[in-house]
Amino acid sequence: MTETTDAALGPVTIVETPISLDFSYTPGVAASRFLRSLQQGKLVGQRCPKCQKVYMPPRGACSMCGVATDEEVELSGKGTVTTFCVTRIPSPGLEAPYVSAWILLDGADITSMFLIQEVDPADVRLGMRVEPVWVDDSDRKSDLGNIKYYRPIDEPDAEYDTYKAYV
Ligand SMILES: [Zn+2]
Repeated sequence: MTETTDAALGPVTIVETPISLDFSYTPGVAASRFLRSLQQGKLVGQRCPKCQKVYMPPRGACSMCGVATDEEVELSGKGTVTTFCVTRIPSPGLEAPYVSAWILLDGADITSMFLIQEVDPADVRLGMRVEPVWVDDSDRKSDLGNIKYYRPIDEPDAEYDTYKAYV
């Protein structure tokens, strides 16, 4: 019988603990319209009638002005990386290293978080222009999982002044 010591096994680097939580989500009018647009492969925000800010995803009201938003604004999906993080430990379904980033979508006034792929993590930078990669039409559901990740596009980096308020 062989006894294995802790030193021979090496350090524990990851512990997987499956946890699940079942719940029902009632999205409301604004989020329902947004989720349906996602199923059609579109990103649709809403503009505040008072301050003109465009929210994506929309919540049906401007949290700054306290007024309802109902003007819909379809966004191209392209955006600018304003902040990012390189994660060097694996996550379920993601090999390390991988990059998650806050992206300011063109025409929107708040950032959204997505993965950045199809690029060496060392090349990701603030101001980098990116576009969404959608799942196949037949796999689309009414959620943001329809966007698999963002990838760089062949455009010059955005000027710092255009996104400095979001860094
Ligand atoms: Zn407002």
